[in-house]
Amino acid sequence: MLIVMQPNVSEENIKKVIDYIKQRGFDAHISKGEDHTVIGAVGRKVIDKRDIELLDGVKEVIRISSPYKLVSRVFQKEDTVIDVKGVKFGGGHIGMIAGPCTVETYDQMDATAAKLSKYGVKMLRGGAFKPRTSPYAFQGLGEEGLKILKEVADKYNMAVTSEVMEVSQIPMFLKYVDILQVGARNMQNFNLLKSLGEIRKPVLLKRGLSATIEEWLMSAEYIMAGGNRQVILCERGIRTFEHITRNTLDISAIPVVQKISHLPIIVDPSHATGLRDKIAPMSKAAVAAGADGLIIEVHNSPDTAVCDGAQSLYPEQFGELYEELKALASVIKKSF
Ligand code: PEP
Ligand code: MN
Repeated sequence: MLIVMQPNVSEENIKKVIDYIKQRGFDAHISKGEDHTVIGAVGRKVIDKRDIELLDGVKEVIRISSPYKLVSRVFQKEDTVIDVKGVKFGGGHIGMIAGPCTVETYDQMDATAAKLSKYGVKMLRGGAFKPRTSPYAFQGLGEEGLKILKEVADKYNMAVTSEVMEVSQIPMFLKYVDILQVGARNMQNFNLLKSLGEIRKPVLLKRGLSATIEEWLMSAEYIMAGGNRQVILCERGIRTFEHITRNTLDISAIPVVQKISHLPIIVDPSHATGLRDKIAPMSKAAVAAGADGLIIEVHNSPDTAVCDGAQSLYPEQFGELYEELKALASVIKKSF
């Protein structure tokens, strides 16, 4: 952290700032220029820079080191590759996850998984606990939904992911799913993140509706700080002033995150756009921009889906898209 003092600051004020940071465990390195004195505060402690900005004689405080450690490329240079039953995310591998928004019935999951499996998909999605905006909307089948998800996935030799909404559900999820999904609305549920840090299964961390990339990475840091190194980030669109699409897909988050962090980042074009006809172009854009995976809503009968039918692909549409994505990936020397 650099503390830039005001021009003509008194020696007394400089000393007060130095004493202040030293008391909080930092070393002080002073550099006196013609106009400004700059104090470099070096240390590992967390400090609120506003507290220093309020001290007499301080012009501005510039943070140099990033607040995240374990998620950053400084901690680990090579890409983290997460391998879930042969589906790989990161390091040149693009993982594909597909399935309906929510688990409705055994037959619905069976019909959808049969098609997806035929197209080569090895990881199935399906919510059993749904974070719905309205309390009157379908809330999910609960544990019964997880059972159906696993039963169907086992039948087609697929892995599964589903959204966990609270700490008490974690032991139940560990029985049924291969990746625990944290939804956008829970990205800053710090108790949940801490508990997921204690498990040793991959976590799919969705970006919050209005979260900055830094806030999102700090949430990943919570999980990693607990010792769980298997975090997959998921860009799922952010809230902007635009209303034609459900959210605005932040494609630039892919290269931005990949420069800062070694963690894989995947894209959810379904929740990002909310519109079926936008899924193919956005999936292609995500792969072209370097995404490490995709999670796409596909339903055996989108017209009768209990939720998110309008953004769910028909299985045949998905099959066609997947072939195009594989061709696209090979151009940039990556593979599904
Ligand atoms: C989901 O994937 O089912 C979901 C609810 O997504 P999000 O948390 O991104 O809204
Ligand atoms: Mn959905």
